Amino acid sequence: MQIYVDGAFYSEEDAKISVFDHGLLYGDGVFEGIRVYGGRVFELDPHIDRLYASAQTIALEIPISRSDLIEAMMETIRRNEGAEYVRLVVTRGVGDLGLNPKKCPKATVFCIAGGITLYPAEVYEKGFKVRTLATRRNEPQALNPAVKSLNYLNNVMGALELRDTDVNEGLFLTTSGYVCECTADNFFMVKGRRLMTPNPALGALGGITRAVVMKLAAGMGMEVEEGFYTLFDVYNAEEAFLTGTAAEVGPIVEIDRRPIGTGVPGPITREIIARFHEYAENTGTPVNA
Ligand code: PMP
Repeated sequence: MQIYVDGAFYSEEDAKISVFDHGLLYGDGVFEGIRVYGGRVFELDPHIDRLYASAQTIALEIPISRSDLIEAMMETIRRNEGAEYVRLVVTRGVGDLGLNPKKCPKATVFCIAGGITLYPAEVYEKGFKVRTLATRRNEPQALNPAVKSLNYLNNVMGALELRDTDVNEGLFLTTSGYVCECTADNFFMVKGRRLMTPNPALGALGGITRAVVMKLAAGMGMEVEEGFYTLFDVYNAEEAFLTGTAAEVGPIVEIDRRPIGTGVPGPITREIIARFHEYAENTGTPVNA
């Protein structure tokens, strides 16, 4: 494996970040997780745009140009044949032990290209079991989850609740009780010809897979709605699924021990999954241009 760190490539053993990097000390940094399908980078511009939007929000200056950043990522993928998942990270860089970002003169950029499998294939066939989490999603007024920051402890706390259970994913509510998102994925429900997903203003990440799925569903003639939903809406949905770069589109068949719809992956979900894979195989920016 060849890993890009600040302009050079290193083996897995030699790719190192300082213990004084504020990405490590404070979770002060931003990142993207990006898929590669058939030698093409999926939704490249939306991912790079979101990285810049996250960086702008935390006043983090990315130390190389957008084109150099993309080239660094492309070269990382080229050097790791067969890579299907890319992690692109920009941290605040090396500073002192105080949290003052002004004391970090230069951001650190690194990129890893490898593989990722979050759930076994069987879960995609049978459908995901989901549980509402006791941990609430970060309040946007405190730390807006629209920023894809290195500070993922809220998500980790949610994931920890699923230890020693047969449940595959957790569903975060907001402190007001609105449905928000899963631990690292967006959430969708289907009722009739209506596709519903929580409004990002509630504190969900503006997912790239989410945006693609919304576009594909509109192309299927569905009415697509971003709203404020409660567990009543969730329990009475006909179908549900989650979306994410790593997870792709995962059908949900059970939430809080209630079957969703008929308790098997629904027909609209299955059509969206098929259309998603077709779209993924037929779009994207070639790694070897
Ligand atoms: N929500 C959270 C909290 C995430 O970390 C992610 C990314 N894994 C998503 C949603 C899905 O976003 P995307 O489709 O852009 O990967």
